Amino acid sequence: MDGMARTGAEKRKRVRWRIRVGGTVQGVGFRPFVYRLAYSFGLEGWVRNTSEGALIEAQGDETALESFIRALRENAPPAASVRDTEIEVLEHEELEGFRILESPAGDEVRTTVPPDIATCAECLDDIGDPENRRFGYPFTNCTNCGPRFTIINKIPYDRISTTMSFFEMCPDCRREYEDPADRRFHAQPNACPVCGPRLSLDVSEAARILREGGILAVKGLGGYHLACDARNDEAVRTLRRRKGRSDKPFALMCADPEEARLICEIDAVSEGLLLSPESPIVLMPARKNSGISASVAPGTGTLGVMLPYTPLHHLLMRDGPRLLVMTSGNVSEEPIVFKDGEVEERLNGIPDHVLSHDRPIHIACDDSVMRVVGGVPGVVRRARGFVPRPIYMEMEMPEILACGGDLKSAFCVTKGYSAYVSQHLGDLENARTLDHYGKVVGDFCKFFEIEPKIVAYDMHPDYFSTQFARSFEAERKIAVQHHHAHISSCMAENGIFEPVIGVAFDGTGYGDDGTIWGGEFLIVDMTCYKRAAHLSPVPLPGGDAAVRRPGRMALSYLRSAGLDCAVPGVTPEEADTVVLQMERGLNAPLTSSAGRLFDAVSALLGICTEVTYEGQAAIELEAAGTYTDRSYGFRIAGSPPEIDVSGMIAQIVEDRARGVSMGEIAGAFHNTAAEIIAETCRVLREETGISEAALSGGVFQNALLTERAVSLLEESGFKVYRHRLVPCNDGGISLGQAVSAAVRCK
Ligand code: ZN
Ligand code: ZN
Ligand code: FE
Repeated sequence: MDGMARTGAEKRKRVRWRIRVGGTVQGVGFRPFVYRLAYSFGLEGWVRNTSEGALIEAQGDETALESFIRALRENAPPAASVRDTEIEVLEHEELEGFRILESPAGDEVRTTVPPDIATCAECLDDIGDPENRRFGYPFTNCTNCGPRFTIINKIPYDRISTTMSFFEMCPDCRREYEDPADRRFHAQPNACPVCGPRLSLDVSEAARILREGGILAVKGLGGYHLACDARNDEAVRTLRRRKGRSDKPFALMCADPEEARLICEIDAVSEGLLLSPESPIVLMPARKNSGISASVAPGTGTLGVMLPYTPLHHLLMRDGPRLLVMTSGNVSEEPIVFKDGEVEERLNGIPDHVLSHDRPIHIACDDSVMRVVGGVPGVVRRARGFVPRPIYMEMEMPEILACGGDLKSAFCVTKGYSAYVSQHLGDLENARTLDHYGKVVGDFCKFFEIEPKIVAYDMHPDYFSTQFARSFEAERKIAVQHHHAHISSCMAENGIFEPVIGVAFDGTGYGDDGTIWGGEFLIVDMTCYKRAAHLSPVPLPGGDAAVRRPGRMALSYLRSAGLDCAVPGVTPEEADTVVLQMERGLNAPLTSSAGRLFDAVSALLGICTEVTYEGQAAIELEAAGTYTDRSYGFRIAGSPPEIDVSGMIAQIVEDRARGVSMGEIAGAFHNTAAEIIAETCRVLREETGISEAALSGGVFQNALLTERAVSLLEESGFKVYRHRLVPCNDGGISLGQAVSAAVRCK
């Protein structure tokens, strides 16, 4: 009897725990979640935000507390992520109920600016329910979803600090906002048809315009989109013409995954990304004859698809076409239009109508783009949904501003264990982009209370980002070589500090010898790098002209291989000019760029002879490639070793003459590029004993190359590191610059 009673008492032992929760737990509905969870387990105590995350004190039954901790991790709201929990046992106290506490004033709160989150399932139910007061309301949101980063103009993140401060909550909304048990407790953009933002145009009218083939500017979370029916070829071609964009693929929005499946092959990982709270554009293989306009993504073999991520999108796609082109509202490479007053001026003549609303956007933010390569999701463009979520650093960082590069620009600021990489800011090539870049640097420093003491930047003397760094007031300025930054970035997000063999396959990066690098094997240990091997340099005839006209690169590679034959799309006159430039060394700097090698082969096969957007020749070459186990020859020789591909160029010319299919040649070329990577890494492992390889640079956006290179390296016993959190292209270099500068300043 006695024994049994004691066992029962022990089971029901009352304990009190202090639980520190680290990770993304602020502004994502974490406290109301904890509150509801605590109630469901019958716990007493409280929860509040701290500078590091959230702090919980909970008391109750020991087994209940254990289940509570498990549920904290496993059932966290969609946009939250619990990195770690730390438990401290306290004395039991007399307490009643569970409460959500305000953060004490003066407590430094660093992680308070959350990213924008796609509409959650519950809010979707609300707008679809005729009995609900938010039925059909396009600005419905809750603590689990809605606008965040794009509406914040100062910290701390509170309604008054957002562009929602213009709207006074009605009594019903206020009640939800103040009720800890409500899903809308402290949901800063909380609104309803009575008190919230309104549309400029009826959804049904907007849907009709789209159905009838019109072009509509639609105000989204981070800026305006230009939308039209993706199955209406005429509409898509009109949009291309008006936007002045000849080939660059348009992104698509599908009503649901079923609709997306009609036009793409969707693997499980990609589907997970499509449905994630970040709701990015996902690049996936296109299905043939899906009825989609051929002008959506000519020559690429892939389609960029996203699902509706605001209530307005959902409503629009319910009444309108189920498949829309949704491309950024801008002209050429200017930043996306996000101010209502600028629509008329900057998008003049492109849309037939504008679907706008009166909730202002404070910071422009494009859609993010992801691609699954070899089962691993990679970020191609990091923006909405991810920014400004910090990237956790394994070392404590001083306050640094790293300026990134000029193409696909993004900067990074650091503090403590966090690196905040900005959203994709476009190419720094016009006054508007530069202005925008400067403004967002200011916003980030303000949001995260950072006063950079160190400024890191690319070695390229002519980059605007370099000039920006030079004019920025700071104690120290540190130039970081482009490919060193690429590899350091990959190391930083993987948390490695030990030396690696860095493979940087890239378009263009300024080398420390003044030539243009981009096919580099570097031994990197964060503080320094050694250029251990590289592709044999060839002339870049006409500089930028050779980037725009890849046929020039083909000629350069042919001549370097001692071959004299014609290149499709290059007239004899142009060929003469190019040859003269190379012979005299006039405006023909040397380059070891891997990106240019892909361009050359693309042109040699007649696939792409004129580039209208960055990477086009390589993208179309990848799309042309078919499966083959053939590959071509190359030589690794010299000290430091150079990789000579003239043998491969000669074999490609022969194959072409023999009538081998373009797909097979393109496939064999990709195999060769992967073998070059694996073989060179093996040579360097012999020399250094290092068997870790880190892959970075924009060329690794190529799935055909990356999958092959990774499997060859792994078969040879290498541990391979790739990017997951930041892009492998220049959008990721600011992170590498920051960590490299931090290590050097230690
Ligand atoms: Zn919601
Ligand atoms: Zn209201
Ligand atoms: Fe690069």
